[in-house]
Amino acid sequence: MKSNYDAVVIGTGFGGAVAACRLAQAGLKVGILERGRRYPKGSFPRDWSNPANGWLWSNEQGLFDLKPINEMTIIQGAGYGGGSLIYANVHLRAPADLFAAGWPRGYSRAALDPYYDLVAYMLDIKPITASAHLGMPPKTTAMKSVADKLGRSAQFCYPNLAVDFGAPRQTHQNKFNVTQEGCNYCGECDIGCNYLAKNTLDLNYLALAEQHGADAAIQCAVARIEQSANGYKVIYKDYRAGGGEYFIEAANVFVCAGAVNSTELLLRCRDQYKTLPNLSAQLGNGYSGNGDFLAFAFDTSQALQPSNGPTITTGIVYDRGQGANRVWFIFEEGGYPKAIAGLLQLLNPAAEGLGGIAIMTKSELEKAIRTAGAANRASAGVSRSMVFLAMGRDKANGRIRLSPLTRELSVEWDVASNQPLYEAETGLSYDIASALGGKAAFNPFWQRLHLPASVHNLGGCTMADDAAHGVTDANGEVFGYRGLYVLDGGILPAATGVNPSHTIAAVAERNVEAAIRRLRGDSAWRAPQAALARPVIDPLSQLTIPAGSTMAPTTATIGLGFTETMKGFFDPGHVPSDDYIGAEQAGQRNNCHVDFTLTITFPDLDAALADSAHPGIANGIVQVDGFTDSNGAPVSNGVFNLFVDAGQVNERRMLYALPFIGADGKPYLLDGFKDVKDHGSFDVWAATSTLYTVIRAGHERTGAIVATGIMHILIPDFMHQLTTFQVAGTSDPVKQAAAVARFGDLFMGTLWDVFAVPRLPH
Ligand SMILES: Cc1cc2nc3c(=O)[nH]c(=O)nc-3n(C[C@H](O)[C@H](O)[C@H](O)COP(=O)(O)OP(=O)(O)OC[C@H]3O[C@@H](n4cnc5c(N)ncnc54)[C@H](O)[C@@H]3O)c2cc1C
Ligand code: SF4
Repeated sequence: MKSNYDAVVIGTGFGGAVAACRLAQAGLKVGILERGRRYPKGSFPRDWSNPANGWLWSNEQGLFDLKPINEMTIIQGAGYGGGSLIYANVHLRAPADLFAAGWPRGYSRAALDPYYDLVAYMLDIKPITASAHLGMPPKTTAMKSVADKLGRSAQFCYPNLAVDFGAPRQTHQNKFNVTQEGCNYCGECDIGCNYLAKNTLDLNYLALAEQHGADAAIQCAVARIEQSANGYKVIYKDYRAGGGEYFIEAANVFVCAGAVNSTELLLRCRDQYKTLPNLSAQLGNGYSGNGDFLAFAFDTSQALQPSNGPTITTGIVYDRGQGANRVWFIFEEGGYPKAIAGLLQLLNPAAEGLGGIAIMTKSELEKAIRTAGAANRASAGVSRSMVFLAMGRDKANGRIRLSPLTRELSVEWDVASNQPLYEAETGLSYDIASALGGKAAFNPFWQRLHLPASVHNLGGCTMADDAAHGVTDANGEVFGYRGLYVLDGGILPAATGVNPSHTIAAVAERNVEAAIRRLRGDSAWRAPQAALARPVIDPLSQLTIPAGSTMAPTTATIGLGFTETMKGFFDPGHVPSDDYIGAEQAGQRNNCHVDFTLTITFPDLDAALADSAHPGIANGIVQVDGFTDSNGAPVSNGVFNLFVDAGQVNERRMLYALPFIGADGKPYLLDGFKDVKDHGSFDVWAATSTLYTVIRAGHERTGAIVATGIMHILIPDFMHQLTTFQVAGTSDPVKQAAAVARFGDLFMGTLWDVFAVPRLPH
């Protein structure tokens, strides 16, 4: 790398590749910094026995960057080509109505269409129906039949894919003189195509950038940006040189590290290093997981051969309701590599899998998956299963932030306000799994912990008409910092609903054109390929949405929730730490209070009742003297297990795991259990209303115990609790009453088993 460039591009995903290509074509001196590796033909990781061998960016700059952050699991690509290396190749345009609200002036579908056409030309997109050599994969045909069977054919489409459908395993030159092969349907798109049959960004935009003189440095992660006399100083860690820090200078910097990483980088520059102190207060706001929702079908009646064909080939649009109540999403089938079939079987409701394990924290769930996965590598059932990926218009109301005290990255995600979208996605997953003759299953992190996962992260550095509403202007230039741009998914001000890469690239084409026109003083500059691009019909524009709405799912997802308040006393540092009664007495003497008010929800009641760990989600406020301030600390996505086996026939436990951040900025866990058994006096009330509680350091149940106590439900609070039961997902009073009755049956039935059955004459 040289020490000085006209423009430095950080990251090589859909924003960065477009920016680097066009800036280099416009004659600027361009330097590219990419934190991941290059992946020449055949080099993607395939060592299934060792997760550290090439898979994770955190391990010697591997392919995937997994960020299991507090309220969202974030999955991103790392490598020269960004997310395109591991994405499912789907290119769909955001429908016209999406641009009606939230976007800065100048944006509309009509205005963006020429840029979409340009991206379509560059990435040579076409649907699976254009695949002349290997025909339609069985999963594709099955999804078409399902759409017909469910009366959803008018909303079914074959999305455009950035896949080379030339003759399989035969090489040829693409239009940028780069060697590629035709797709052979190996089904490994999401772990990198070892045949170069995906039209990934390194084979088109980035190849052109380098052909036009751009310098690219890989395994170089930008750590911060400072202002300098000539513009900006970009400081990066070069992992090829042991992680040492270096810098380059440029008048123009294009931050294209992906929504989460770009936002984190800028947050650190504003709040930690104070090198860009005037970045908008909106930085971090407007995060969206694009309504991502992961589900599965198992034991389908027909062999779907999910490992045959590109990962995604079909979509079904769901569009129901109006205004704030509108729910819009697209439901896509997902193939997967044969090698992970055994692991996926863990989630099969019919298999032993994870069923019944009282998992309350992320690390416990990860460990259970690792352990069960290691024992279950066989690919049984691979043919009769499918992955589903739904994505939709969530409220983009998340927030990426740095914890004020620890500076750790966190994402706040409001599950409750996005629940109608998740409910409809759940319902359609049930319908489609059942139409395939199989059973639905769901992302275990969602089902157990209500932790969504997103591969389509957007927002955080959103575009707006002014700095009070966003971080960059409508061209991606950061308010208050001339020549500093964000040009990746971070600037999109709303969920696209569809797979977002096409829109990220089209917006980058639009915005880099504006930047080049300014830098070159040439108001007519256009990308050289713009003249070659032809209008492309987006498959979504050919769908029919019946007046008002598509049908509701036939499987309604009924949820149930109630509010619970508990109060008690505790003793910090009590020894021994399991002397609950002694700790309670000490707490009473010292006036050391602990209390919480939680809303406990079972968003999919029937799934929770069927799971022997009966997991619910707990949100609310916990107040612990000396640990939180007097207003308490929020608990989000805590876990509640209604009744789990306690090892004895007539004994169950109710479990609470409530993570919170203390006033000292450190993480803690309120870890409690109710010991539901007959202690000899038939005292059902005491057993179900006494919570033996410890406070642990950290958010895990392995954390050191720092306090012990006991909490109780007081009678007035219980009387109030009974009035708080609410049923979601149906307005039919009969169905609402039936849902409460199903919950009551489980509750009372378990108490009957525990307290009455042992006393019955045998
Ligand atoms: C499994 C999977 C399947 C997907 N399928 C689809 C699909 O079919 N269609 C679709 O539209 N989208 C899909 N996506 C999402 C898509 O990949 C992203 O939306 C898209 O890549 C985002 O583009 P971007 O330019 O914002 O960032 P990215 O593509 O994430 O690019 C960011 C780049 O910046 C680099 N970087 C990050 N931090 C730094 C740093 N500090 N210094 C230097 N470099 C840095 C990263 O390594 C990366 O190369 C999928 C994603 C995944 C994970
Ligand atoms: S199915 Fe995907 S990974 Fe396999 S050859 Fe085709 S594009 Fe490549």
